[in-house]
Amino acid sequence: MKAVPFFEHGSLDVLQYCEFPDPAADKDIVVDVEYCGVNHLDIWTRMGIPGKKILLPHICGCDIVGTLKGQRVMVYPGISCDRCQYCNSGHENLCNEFAIIGGMSDWNGGYAEKVAVPARNVIKIPKALKSESAATLAVSYLVAWNMLKANGAGRSKTILVYGAASGVGMATIQLAMALGAKVITTVSSGKHEFAKKLGADRVIDKTSQNIVEEVKRISPTGVDIVVDHVGAATWPTSIAVLRQGGRMAVCGMTSGNEAKVPVRVFYSKQILMTGALLGTRGELQELIRFVVRKKIRPVIDSIFPLKDAKEAHKKMEANLHKGKILLSCR
Ligand SMILES: [Zn+2]
Repeated sequence: MKAVPFFEHGSLDVLQYCEFPDPAADKDIVVDVEYCGVNHLDIWTRMGIPGKKILLPHICGCDIVGTLKGQRVMVYPGISCDRCQYCNSGHENLCNEFAIIGGMSDWNGGYAEKVAVPARNVIKIPKALKSESAATLAVSYLVAWNMLKANGAGRSKTILVYGAASGVGMATIQLAMALGAKVITTVSSGKHEFAKKLGADRVIDKTSQNIVEEVKRISPTGVDIVVDHVGAATWPTSIAVLRQGGRMAVCGMTSGNEAKVPVRVFYSKQILMTGALLGTRGELQELIRFVVRKKIRPVIDSIFPLKDAKEAHKKMEANLHKGKILLSCR
């Protein structure tokens, strides 16, 4: 099959479009990949995480849509032991052995014509859901759904989410709006219109406006929930804009891993913080039903052919995308 593995961690150039052995079915199921969504996680995986070793060569890509015996399917990307108390109670992302297909694990992902996954990870795509849309749900929409549900997002709640044009940003805005929440978001210059079109109530341009001041103007007592996938650059802002007893939902650190926290403000405000790693298979199924019922349409920025995976990463790294980037794998 054709695939885009990397043989060593590093910059864009380690991604190599080439002939690669077909995955062995063994006890798994082989899905013919149609689309694979590109996520920030793929860039982290390609670059490597210090102290974390995975089998090389590795194929990244965790947002997989394809066909199995002619049926359209998508893949829940979480792998777990399937026998511990967490796995048995539907909380498999708390499993000690939890890993992500195509992520920093020994499981090859969807930057390929075929991928082998456990049978239990395969989910049928409902008729009403386009394959392109399905290829956006299993990572950024799933983690956004997880964070919103865990923190009680809904009517009468005001939510701040950074980066409307990013995968998690867009997902959070669309899902939070559909849950009835009020959404404030931030954009870099040139992406204001995009955020408005998604339906965000208020849009702050972070290149020309001060986020803390603007949020205080919009919501003087602070927001109920901040969705933070940015990390080091935004943690102080997140803590500053939360109301007393507010919730900080964290799922990423695209700006860096080492955040500075004003400890006194944090406990004085009695902030609750939740971390989110993907979500469960049950949550993904719930999310799919919600997306179909609420007619939510993820915006696709661009679709690159598999051979141009490098270009797709380049665009994401340059932060030029507005919405999801997909690879077309056949
Ligand atoms: Zn387990």
